[in-house]
Amino acid sequence: METFPWWSKAQIELAEDAKKFTDEVLVPIGERDALLRKFSREGLAKMAGKGWFGALIPKKYGGRAEEWGVTGAAIIMEETSRAGESAGGLGTTMFGSATQIVHNGNEEQKQKWLPGIARGELIGCITMTEPYAGSDIAGIETTAVRQGDFYIINGKKRFQTIAAAADLYMCYFLTSDKPEDRAKYNHLGAFVVEKGTPGFHIERMNDTMGYDGSYNCYLSFDDAKVPTFNRLGQEGEGWKIMMSGLNVERILNASPTLGPQRECIRYAQQHLERRIQFGQPTGSIATNQFKLADMIWKLYLSRLIVYYGAYCADLGKDVPVEAAISKMFSSDSAMETALEAVQCMGGNGIMKIYPVERLFRDAKHAQIAAGTSEILKLLIYRQGTRNLKNDLKVPQRVIDPELGLPLPVGKPLPKKTAKGEEDLLKVLAENYRTNPGLYMTLDDIKEWLDISDADLIKYLESLEKQGLAGCYRTRKGISLARVTYKGLQKANPPEYYKYRPSWLKDDQDFW
Ligand SMILES: Cc1cc2nc3c(=O)[nH]c(=O)nc-3n(C[C@H](O)[C@H](O)[C@H](O)COP(=O)(O)OP(=O)(O)OC[C@H]3O[C@@H](n4cnc5c(N)ncnc54)[C@H](O)[C@@H]3O)c2cc1C
Repeated sequence: METFPWWSKAQIELAEDAKKFTDEVLVPIGERDALLRKFSREGLAKMAGKGWFGALIPKKYGGRAEEWGVTGAAIIMEETSRAGESAGGLGTTMFGSATQIVHNGNEEQKQKWLPGIARGELIGCITMTEPYAGSDIAGIETTAVRQGDFYIINGKKRFQTIAAAADLYMCYFLTSDKPEDRAKYNHLGAFVVEKGTPGFHIERMNDTMGYDGSYNCYLSFDDAKVPTFNRLGQEGEGWKIMMSGLNVERILNASPTLGPQRECIRYAQQHLERRIQFGQPTGSIATNQFKLADMIWKLYLSRLIVYYGAYCADLGKDVPVEAAISKMFSSDSAMETALEAVQCMGGNGIMKIYPVERLFRDAKHAQIAAGTSEILKLLIYRQGTRNLKNDLKVPQRVIDPELGLPLPVGKPLPKKTAKGEEDLLKVLAENYRTNPGLYMTLDDIKEWLDISDADLIKYLESLEKQGLAGCYRTRKGISLARVTYKGLQKANPPEYYKYRPSWLKDDQDFW
């Protein structure tokens, strides 16, 4: 595995060890189990022996978080994801249970569960999705009603990876149906449900397209009795806890797309070097070389964003955008790479004698689980535009007297004190020249005018009533405004709006 310059000595050693162990021990076990569609308990037991389940658990509870952290967990996931589904149970344990208990559990809860998780004796399952709550996960319907020292749970969950083989289920249930709690996202609770809980059982094993042997299931809670001890945080803090875990979850869902990308590249390359058609290796054909080049740059970029996100998470930074980009980009890359690897290998690519066939089917899952690529794009758009707010701000622009075209001013210009609605109309009319066709936000207007919010709204409403301005309203009221044709006429004489490019010759003049 290529290392990064910012990795610690312990992380570099972990990477070397994880690669060697995966090649020598896990790949043979994982590939066999995948062909048998068997949950890879043997692979997990081998990983447990390496202490890898404790990558995110502090030393105090038997883990190695201080040495390895999110970066180390991602390194382990990158390597082990080359070995069939063995990595699945490791991933769900690390981001499904360990992280949430480390960050949200009380001391007794940590003492109870973390050492067993670190030793690889307690396998974790993340339990959010329901039949009627997928991307819109706030719509969870499974109820948790408090009765003394217990919660009574009723409802169904579906799509849980490794559910049939887990010991701990990190669950989110509806604890309040009050509209005011829903509005503030205070309607969910976070619970650790243990295997063997009365009234809790696996309802159905899903027959999936890929992830062979991942034991993906439906779960049923029928008056299941969960002790209040098992609630993480306060009742109503479930959403906060779920969201706080999602960054690490997405980074650790992105990292297991890296191993498959490497496997696809290595099997495609093996083929291209050894397959002769038309008297030459198929790897001599430029289009095949381009395919491999595309796979390689996608792997490089995927690894960069995954390990950058992991590094920031280890520094304690909140990285929703980086985590979302890493999951979206690397899972899309894994899908495209698997598709092209199959193509490079021709008929052999879709034969089960090579892992590329399985990796191709698996790749689709990564674009769906832990937030689909579309949902991640929504998050990147919303949070990304907020993060970049200062950089995205366009400077004030004024018409250059010589060029007659809008040019940015350097420092903001002194504001004019608004004495009446005429001053506002002038600003709106000027915007017709500098940003044609665009409305102004209230903040845009206030960059030019010194005006109170109340006066601004009052003047806009008055201008609108006279037909001099047009307004766009949201639920909160006026948010955008523009001048109308009538307003332009009132604000300035017609010549004011004229513009002639310097190249226009007099004899071409038509006005
Ligand atoms: C292999 C696999 C493993 C999984 N493991 C787990 C697990 O361990 N635990 C768990 O709780 N869940 C798990 N899931 C569930 C997974 O998180 C959900 O499948 C996923 O969040 C999408 O929900 P959905 O399938 O209900 O699709 P839907 O929400 O019904 O979406 C269908 C399509 O509509 C699009 N869409 C929906 N809303 C919007 C929107 N607002 N804007 C744009 N597009 C939108 C989606 O992107 C998608 O393409 C797993 C899923 C898979 C496939």
